[in-house]
Amino acid sequence: MQKTIRPIRTGEEYIESLRGRDLTIYLFGELIKEPVDHPIIRPSINAVAKTYDLAVEEEDLASVKSSITGEQVNRFLHIAESAQDVVKQNKMQRKLGQLTGTCFQRCVGMDALNSLHSTTFEIDEKHGTDYHKKLLEFIKMVQHENLVIGGAMTDVKGDRSMGPSDQEDPDLFLRIVERNDKGVYVSGAKAHQTGCINSHWMLVMPTMRLTENDKDYAVVGAIPVDAPGITYIYGRQSCDTRSMEPGDIDQGNSEYGGQEAMVIFDKAFIPNEMIFMDGEYEFASMLVERFTCYHRRSYVCKTGLGDVLIGAAATIADYNGVPKVSHIKDKLIEMTHLNESIYGTGIASSYQSQKMKSGVWQNDDMLANVCKHNVTRFPYQISRFAQDIAGGLMVTLPSEAELRNPITGPLLEKYLKGRKGVDVESRMRILRLIENMTMGRNAVGYLTESMHGAGSPQAQRIQIARQMQLGYKKRLAKNLAKIQDDGEETLENADYFKRVFKLDNSKE
Ligand SMILES: Cc1cc2nc3c(=O)[nH]c(=O)nc-3n(C[C@H](O)[C@H](O)[C@H](O)COP(=O)(O)OP(=O)(O)OC[C@H]3O[C@@H](n4cnc5c(N)ncnc54)[C@H](O)[C@@H]3O)c2cc1C
Ligand code: SF4
Repeated sequence: MQKTIRPIRTGEEYIESLRGRDLTIYLFGELIKEPVDHPIIRPSINAVAKTYDLAVEEEDLASVKSSITGEQVNRFLHIAESAQDVVKQNKMQRKLGQLTGTCFQRCVGMDALNSLHSTTFEIDEKHGTDYHKKLLEFIKMVQHENLVIGGAMTDVKGDRSMGPSDQEDPDLFLRIVERNDKGVYVSGAKAHQTGCINSHWMLVMPTMRLTENDKDYAVVGAIPVDAPGITYIYGRQSCDTRSMEPGDIDQGNSEYGGQEAMVIFDKAFIPNEMIFMDGEYEFASMLVERFTCYHRRSYVCKTGLGDVLIGAAATIADYNGVPKVSHIKDKLIEMTHLNESIYGTGIASSYQSQKMKSGVWQNDDMLANVCKHNVTRFPYQISRFAQDIAGGLMVTLPSEAELRNPITGPLLEKYLKGRKGVDVESRMRILRLIENMTMGRNAVGYLTESMHGAGSPQAQRIQIARQMQLGYKKRLAKNLAKIQDDGEETLENADYFKRVFKLDNSKE
């Protein structure tokens, strides 16, 4: 085993840092000894490695000077010190989406660190605890070492109509099951955990508003991913076994992929210095709301994928000889319009960031929710257009093996030709990429993750409803219609509009 280089700088060093760890990972009913070399897992590791390489190649975009360590650190580990910092997170996310065509897995950790910065500060303010100081020590360490942090918020949840302590099985939400003077032991499970096997640490957090009965569930802590008592059950993705076949065409995107796994905690230990909430149940909803506020506009990552898919659709139109046809051009315009509508709301949310009491900058909640709500819809529409433009061959295409076969290869070369001058292999490659993104491995990231990641659509509608300020809007209408003040509506207390019309972003 090669000695791990710390601090990690490049993608290659990052990949080496994952080798030789003793993780318990199940995939296809078997224990995986070394995930780094597993053909199904490796593309997801490559995607994270890109976040390291980008920080070297485009320093201003993907790295930043941290006032916590005084060092230049990876932007995924940075605590936002200005609205501009929050904006740059989005720009980096779009760029990485363009470069990988998939989920690059590091934003959950970034958004967890930033939301914990303000939440721990406010817990300490109320309870006289020292979570914020401990969090800063943890941030110092991970910034210096340049480590990957996974954010584990979503419990398996069991019966969705019940909270943690009402479930028949108390393990369906992560909870403290034992404690001693050195720390706590947690049991339970986190679902859909993005990039967990590719991380160095996991931040476990509550998933919803909690009550006094749920005190044991109100726990936030940092755990090394290779801590004893943790088991990973790898999530399958559609067409994932194609990466075990020879050749690279049929995979569509052979280099990059996402990763989710179910994480089971069986008395995993969190030492006192890594505990950032322990029983303060009334702060669970604050943490969830601040985390999802960051994370819902982090989904501008999908506009980077949208750029790739629009490019793929334009390329196949070109290969098919129809790039100038009016309805094709119009569909490409519509795809672009949808994609930029996502970006517009996400980046606006970041620009509207405000400074919190702890000093971290938090993006605008309403616009973040609108952004994520767009993400639950528009990638599906963009994919529909891409499949329309691609033609049926996208799903009836023979395999790469047939292209390489001496009997069938020449037949495919003859009958799968499109426009003169375009080789059949290129045509197959671009069709496979569209398949990969709209129904294959990376449709997990482009479509279903867009639907449910950072909360299913209804979760955003609830937040939008909370802030839609109907009283204020009714008053505006009544004023113009010359309806006298009936005492019901007021132009005061419209928080959202206070933020909209503010000319500087300082805290009120
Ligand atoms: C690809 C992917 C990656 C993810 N990565 C991460 C990650 O890294 N970290 C993390 O913490 N989480 C992650 N998530 C989890 C994500 O936040 C959840 O999927 C999301 O919160 C929805 O939860 P669920 O999947 O359990 O859906 P469910 O809770 O099963 O929801 C299914 C449907 O039921 C509705 N529903 C559920 N409960 C209620 C209720 N009480 N009342 C009314 N309607 C309800 C929902 O609105 C939805 O329509 C990821 C998810 C995906 C798909
Ligand atoms: S879905 Fe997007 S925001 Fe979330 S971790 Fe993946 S790349 Fe980042």
